[in-house]
Amino acid sequence: MDTIRTNLSIIHQRMEAACRKAGRDVDDVRLLLATKTVPAERIAFALECGEALIGENKVQELKEKNEALRPYNYESHFIGHLQTNKIKDVLKYVTCIESVDRLDVARKLDQRLQFEGRSIDILVQVNTSSEESKFGIDPAEAIPFIREIAKYDTLAIKGLMTIGLFSAEEEKVRRCFRLLNNIRQQVVEEGIANVEMRELSMGMSGDLEIAIGEGATIVRVGTAIFGRRIYPDSYYWNESKR
Ligand SMILES: *Cc1c(COP(=O)(O)O)cnc(C)c1O
Repeated sequence: MDTIRTNLSIIHQRMEAACRKAGRDVDDVRLLLATKTVPAERIAFALECGEALIGENKVQELKEKNEALRPYNYESHFIGHLQTNKIKDVLKYVTCIESVDRLDVARKLDQRLQFEGRSIDILVQVNTSSEESKFGIDPAEAIPFIREIAKYDTLAIKGLMTIGLFSAEEEKVRRCFRLLNNIRQQVVEEGIANVEMRELSMGMSGDLEIAIGEGATIVRVGTAIFGRRIYPDSYYWNESKR
């Protein structure tokens, strides 16, 4: 558990250094704990260390850990691939869905939210690395998609999310994050009703500095806090594409 505390402090130092370098306020970037496969006790420990935002990739894991984490005050986002048959469940556990990337998901979310008489925050996931294996809407289709789903007043569009390219070449990674920020700016300029573009969720264990330099407001970090996972990320990122 002490490792978690140490790792968290290292991540916050990295975030602060990146903010300083980019001339940004540290309070403008939130740390989201990416907690897939992490047992509830370890998440609880991170929350006791002062963290307040977690992200899960599977509805099943949200459900399993919910009880143990009930005593804590925290916010929960969904960051995984959302299947339409899980929509009713996911809405029980999260305040924001960061991974909206398909019309059928938006439509089914709207139907369910209408039924419940409420709305939810969402981010639109964009596939900025154009890798076949990753979810997210194609960058060229992002703006038409946002125009389309802005019609659903149950969906409060708060910004964009992306998973950058996994590459040791910093410039290639940076290009992904810059593209997301460009799309954000274009959407802002269009002034689409019902659309806010204040969040850019981008940057993970290996590339959070680059993401902060390009305007990230949420960085999603798992491995650098909780250690290596036993499942490959492909298990979470492209289950329907295998
Ligand atoms: C797992 C995951 C992360 C965190 O990745 P790490 O490399 O472990 O920091 C971020 N975003 C999403 C969508 C993830 O699935």
